[in-house]
Amino acid sequence: MSINNLPLPYHDELLFSVMARAKVHLNFQSPKTLLKTVYGHSGLRASIRFGSNLCSLANSYNYPSLSPQALLYEHTLWPLLAPFIPYERKEYCEAMLLGQRDKSVTVSSGIAASRVLYSKHLRYCPLCIQEQYGSTGETYWQRLPQVPGISLCVKHMCSLAVHKRAASRINQHEYFAPVLSKEFVISPLTLEPFLCGLNEFVVTLLTLRHIQNPTFAQWSAYYQALATSTGCNRGKCIKHEKIHSMVTQKFPKKWLKSVGLVVNSEESNWTRGIFRKHRKSFSFLEHYIINSSLLTSPWDVKETLNAVSRYNTVRCLKPSRLINTHTTDLLESYRESWVSLLKVKGAKQSRVTAGAAYAWLYRHDRAWLLSMNSNYRNSSNPKKAKVDWNARDKSYARKLVKVIDNAEADIYAPQHTKSWLLTHFPNKPSIEKWLPKLPITNSLLIKYAETTSEYQIRRITRNLMFGEYSKVKRLWYLMRVSGLNKYRLTQTT
Ligand SMILES: [Zn+2]
Repeated sequence: MSINNLPLPYHDELLFSVMARAKVHLNFQSPKTLLKTVYGHSGLRASIRFGSNLCSLANSYNYPSLSPQALLYEHTLWPLLAPFIPYERKEYCEAMLLGQRDKSVTVSSGIAASRVLYSKHLRYCPLCIQEQYGSTGETYWQRLPQVPGISLCVKHMCSLAVHKRAASRINQHEYFAPVLSKEFVISPLTLEPFLCGLNEFVVTLLTLRHIQNPTFAQWSAYYQALATSTGCNRGKCIKHEKIHSMVTQKFPKKWLKSVGLVVNSEESNWTRGIFRKHRKSFSFLEHYIINSSLLTSPWDVKETLNAVSRYNTVRCLKPSRLINTHTTDLLESYRESWVSLLKVKGAKQSRVTAGAAYAWLYRHDRAWLLSMNSNYRNSSNPKKAKVDWNARDKSYARKLVKVIDNAEADIYAPQHTKSWLLTHFPNKPSIEKWLPKLPITNSLLIKYAETTSEYQIRRITRNLMFGEYSKVKRLWYLMRVSGLNKYRLTQTT
C-alpha cells in the first residue's frame, strides 16, 4: 500500500537518508513506528550500506521507476560488491536484500571478511550540504562520500567531514540526517592523480547494472594474462616484487594503510593472492589498485568485466597415455592402493603421502583418478578440525561478561539487546552465524539481553532520578522525556 508524503530519493541519495527524511515528512517521533509504517514491521536495522526489505519499500512508493532493483542499485552501496562476487552468491544476496532479512548479507557478500576498512561513521562534504539546503530546503547523505578510499569532494576540492555519530552503536533502528552547520573550516586541497582516477572508477561502478559476473576461474585467468601483458611474469612465475613496487609507486603507503590494504613482501599479502588461483572474491578496491598500477592507460572496469566473463576457462585435458598389457597389473595395484588411501586420508593428504602413485595414475589413468578424488575431496578438512569451539566460546563469554558489567553501570546506554551487546565484538557477524556452536555465549546473551519492558522501566527510572522531571512534576511530561506513550507501554511497565 502506497504511503502519501513518503519523500522520493534524490540523485545518489542513500536509502538510510531517505528514511531519515521520511521521519520528518511523516512526523514520527519513534523510529520503530516509522519502520512499521513503511516496511510493515519494526525489527529492521537502519543499515547504512545496503538497506533491507526493499520490496516493501518499493510497495510503499508504488512509483513505476522506483522498483526494488532500482532502489538497490541507485541508492545503496551494493553496486560496489555485486560485480565482483560469483553470480549465484550475488543472486542469493539480492534475494535477501529485497526480501525479509539482511542478516546474512554481511557474511555472504564477503564484506565481513573483507580487508577493506568500511567507516562506521557517515561522511559528507560541508559545501555540498549547503548546496542541498539551498536547492531543496533539506539535507541528505550521498553515496559517494561513504565509499572506502574516497576522502575528498572533487566538485568543491575539499576534505570530507566525518559525522561524529556512529550509526550502529547509538540506536540500530534510528535514521538521522546531516545537520547544516555554518561553522566549518575548508582547507583547499590539490587532487592527487590516483584519487582522481579512483573517483571516476567509483562513480562508474555505482552506475553499473546488468553486468555478467566472472567466475573465480575467469578472474584467475585474467590476472595471469594481465601479468603476462605487462611484463610481470617469467614463464609461469609472477614477479611479485615488481608488482609490489609498481603499486607503491602509484599509491602512497599511508593511503593504502588507511583503507586496510597494506602492501608488503609477505607470502600472504593480498597483492600476491590476487595473482594466484582465486578461491574467494577480491574487493572493488583491490581490483582497482592492481589494474591501475599495472596498466598504462586508465582502467575501464566495465570493459574488463565484460571481457573477463567471456573467458573460456574449460581446461582441455590431454588424453591419458595408452595403457598396454604390460601396465595393466601395475594399474590395478596402483588403483587399489590409491582407493584405500583415499578412504583414510582424503584426496589432498593422499597426494602428499603417496606422490609417486598419484603421478603414475595422473599420467596413465587421469579420468579415473580425478573422478575418484572428487568423491573424497571433502573427507579431510584440517582447517575446520582445528577450530577449538570450546576455547573460543569461553573467550567470547569472558569478554561478554565485561561488556554486560559496563552496560549495567551505564543508565544512558541504548537497549541491551543481543545485537547491541555483540556490537562490542569486532567479528559480530561471525559470532551471530556460529552461535549454535557457542553455548555459553548464547546462554549469556539470552539471560542478560534487556527486554522491551526492562528498557522502558530503565528510561523512566533515569528520568525520575536524573532528568528534568523534578521541574515539571506531571506524568505526561515523564512519558514524553522517556520517549514513551500509553500505547507503547507494555503490561509489565
Ligand atoms: Zn562538495
